[in-house]
Amino acid sequence: MTDCIFCRIIRGELPATRVYEDADVLAFMDIFPLRRGHVLVIPREHQVQLHQLSPEVRGRLIDTGARIAQALYASSLQPAAAHFAINDGPAAQQSVPHVHLHVLPRYAGDGGRFLLRLLRKPFDLALGPAAAGGLEADAAAIRAALAKIDGH
Ligand SMILES: [Zn+2]
Repeated sequence: MTDCIFCRIIRGELPATRVYEDADVLAFMDIFPLRRGHVLVIPREHQVQLHQLSPEVRGRLIDTGARIAQALYASSLQPAAAHFAINDGPAAQQSVPHVHLHVLPRYAGDGGRFLLRLLRKPFDLALGPAAAGGLEADAAAIRAALAKIDGH
């Protein structure tokens, strides 16, 4: 058992606005979003870097990220595109040492400074959740779109 913040979210010891979960992965709203609809997808298994995951779990991580993006496109947020990002280790500005895939809605002309902001983002989950009410509304929209994609 690890006291990693993401492992604690997985175990339900810390709150998170969940969007999707299954046996392998969990997706939730980033509590310091760069913008509305910023979702993180993490494996349930604690590993720091992408290559440490099994090919199956790595596949589940990417597949879930793609489906979250599809749900974002179908949701009221209606992004024109999405940005997928994994900071693969502390020297790459990985803020929590547990593999996480950022899924970020992008809009036409939303600026070249976007990636810099992502890389430099002060990301301290230990400060606690922010604006959970707004996050829940967006999470509900994404969950509803996911359910439609999955035919439920
Ligand atoms: Zn962890």
